[in-house]
Amino acid sequence: MKYVLAIDQGTTSTRAIIFDKRGNIIASAQQEFRQIYPEPAFVEHSPQDILGSTVAVVGEALVRANIAARDLAAIGVTNQRETTLVWDKKTGKPVYNAIVWQCRRTADFCEKLRREGFAEKIYNKTGLVPDAYFSATKIKWILDNVEGARQRAEKGELAFGTVDTYLLWQLSKGKIFATDYTNASRTMLFNIHTLKWDKELLRLFDIPASMLPKVYPSSHKFGFTDASYFGSPVPVCGVVGDQQAALFGQLCTEAGEVKNTYGTGCFLLMNTGGKAVKSRNGLVTTLGATAGDKPCYVLEGSVFVGGAVVQWLRDEMKIISSSEESETLANSVKDSAGVYVVPAFTGLGAPYWNPNSRGTITGITRGTNRAHIVRAALEGVAYEVCDLVQAMEKDAGVKISGIAVDGGASKNGFLMQFQSDILNCSVKRPKLAETTALGAAYLAGLAAGYWSGVEQLRKNFSADCVFTPAMEEAKRLALLNGWKLAVARCRL
Ligand code: ADP
Repeated sequence: MKYVLAIDQGTTSTRAIIFDKRGNIIASAQQEFRQIYPEPAFVEHSPQDILGSTVAVVGEALVRANIAARDLAAIGVTNQRETTLVWDKKTGKPVYNAIVWQCRRTADFCEKLRREGFAEKIYNKTGLVPDAYFSATKIKWILDNVEGARQRAEKGELAFGTVDTYLLWQLSKGKIFATDYTNASRTMLFNIHTLKWDKELLRLFDIPASMLPKVYPSSHKFGFTDASYFGSPVPVCGVVGDQQAALFGQLCTEAGEVKNTYGTGCFLLMNTGGKAVKSRNGLVTTLGATAGDKPCYVLEGSVFVGGAVVQWLRDEMKIISSSEESETLANSVKDSAGVYVVPAFTGLGAPYWNPNSRGTITGITRGTNRAHIVRAALEGVAYEVCDLVQAMEKDAGVKISGIAVDGGASKNGFLMQFQSDILNCSVKRPKLAETTALGAAYLAGLAAGYWSGVEQLRKNFSADCVFTPAMEEAKRLALLNGWKLAVARCRL
């Protein structure tokens, strides 16, 4: 009996999950690690923590499953995207901490790029808007700020990688220097149309080409882990960025299929097949994982505050004592009595792009109670997602008939039903919530021949719940109209 192991190296923790052929979880292990804030808007991770936590959770999961590394048919790696590491090719020693996707240290440089008119060129090549999230300006920062780094890079001594590449390098003791299309597409250096690193962008960001890993499909035999780590070598056959992993884990493998993850923020991704769809509504175009050699194209939009509004109600406002209570309270009233919560704590993202907006509550009367506020906050998340879906529909020129959902807040049945009502489409929640790890496992198992194809994976899928719209059209339109007015107020 063989198994597939997924490593999910996330922003706050690293997990290892072992799956069997039916896609059942056999065992898992998780470790949180340090967040390093050297200055207010700077976020870093220790490369040693990233590697150490990975090795530890894989070992622990194997022990819990009571199996050995030789019982693994393959490992799949999924990771926090964009986070940037630079290390010495000889020693494997990082020259600086990992600069995390959230880190804003290069925001001024990105603003300068926009002012100088580079936004369109960058978008046309990479599908991204110039922003500090993406790896390119983080690499440049390391080369410009770490003593001697630029000279060493120019001599070909340094390597760059996102977290997947760093893990592959370390776990293979320098034998694998590779990434996949989905991770490469988040660096702002990769041309998503030619599927090559872009020479012109490398010049713009002053990054030597010798630093870059080779780029392969997400489902590919990358090589083996060194026997010293897990007892015997294990083939690594899958590499994929976390959001694209969830899209594949949800089996959104056909053009037009959409998933939304309700975590701290929300990430909406649509598979657009072989066609790179240009966005006119503030979404990005990126690469998605497939079982084959060619990646698919994906439209992606995100809202900054999703499940985080529930944490705010619990931790700052203290009007609920647990996340689950938000559902009970929301269901205790028949509607939000005209109250709207716009959770724009850090500004409004797509499709509004108004960084100066702030959270707003409208429609409060003498009769408003905490249940109305809690309900309106959950509804606010659903409205934000609805705005994203509508932007995506406009860009892609299709009507979305259903979305697949996952992430912590997708457990909230009230939120899911309201989402279905307000979108007027079905909302499908799988039984297995670990879609990110599952996606990485699927991609690895397909390349290893553990699974025969996507059709076999579909047989594994079982829906936990499908929410279908049950709201009258007139009411839906009236509620959406109220939301538009609330957003307009918060943008003043
Ligand atoms: P991340 O991967 O971004 O850390 P998770 O997918 O673990 O996020 O989801 C955590 C988020 O889900 C938190 O913001 C939390 O407030 C929210 N959440 C968890 N359970 C519920 C619930 N029952 N109802 C609403 N929100 C919830």
